[in-house]
Amino acid sequence: MEPVIEFIGTRWTGAVEIVLLAVLLYYGYLYFRGTPGAKILVGFALIFISLTLASQLLDLNVIGWLLRSFSVFLAIALVVIFQPELRRALTELGSQHFFRSALQKKESIDQLVDTVFDLARRQFGALIALERDISIRQFASTGVDVDAVFSKELILTIFHPKTVLHDGGVIVQNDRVAAAACIFPLTAREDLDRSLGLRHRAGIGITEESDAIAILVSEETGHVSLCHRGILERNLNIDRFRRRLNQLLLLEKYETDSPPQLEN
Ligand code: ATP
Ligand code: MG
Repeated sequence: MEPVIEFIGTRWTGAVEIVLLAVLLYYGYLYFRGTPGAKILVGFALIFISLTLASQLLDLNVIGWLLRSFSVFLAIALVVIFQPELRRALTELGSQHFFRSALQKKESIDQLVDTVFDLARRQFGALIALERDISIRQFASTGVDVDAVFSKELILTIFHPKTVLHDGGVIVQNDRVAAAACIFPLTAREDLDRSLGLRHRAGIGITEESDAIAILVSEETGHVSLCHRGILERNLNIDRFRRRLNQLLLLEKYETDSPPQLEN
């Protein structure tokens, strides 16, 4: 028993290091996934890892030496390539979004529920994607940048059928409306109800490609639907809608809670 305790006593820092690195890599992966630089990063990593493995296993001295000498330049190159993403990450880390309290989140949810049911009462067709861990910024570039504080008035104005911005989806990041009139990917599913048109297919599509939550208001019926991980819950009443948003955004227990009306 003693050697084990001694081993743990001397090596526990290694375990801490592994855990910290894993957490860092995981969040780095979530953050950079979907950004334009992500493919470059994956390419770099693959080349670097395969060359390192090859040089170690086959004892390729020159390649090993080159890798060691160039790794400093590589690190600088990565910082230059990812400068926009790194800056945003550091800003977010320092801003209050990161440490937002549940109370603030609850207020945002109430405001969102109020806004969505106002859209429904007016029968304004709407599609709102709430960004979560996985970036959906690439779809913002298909629309018009807004970058404004979320408010009911702004959303009602955007989705008013006579405005230039009403066609397409809105992207909400934290408490800000990032972009409007965005084109989301349509789901390729063929088993959906025929009454679901392009708006609902785009809402399902964006949640298949990310962990975003899509909120839909039908222009034809005024019904409110919510979509998450490709599962559409249709025609929610205000209480059910609020409850689901609370579950998804506050409690994060969506994996265990099965939605009532699965779109088969
Ligand atoms: P509704 O119940 O409101 O009629 P629907 O699911 O039947 O919705 P359509 O009637 O086809 O859908 O809605 C067309 C509208 O959906 C377009 O005017 C546009 O605003 C929106 N839309 C269509 N394609 C996309 C897309 N790829 N991304 C985002 N929005 C889209
Ligand atoms: Mg329609």
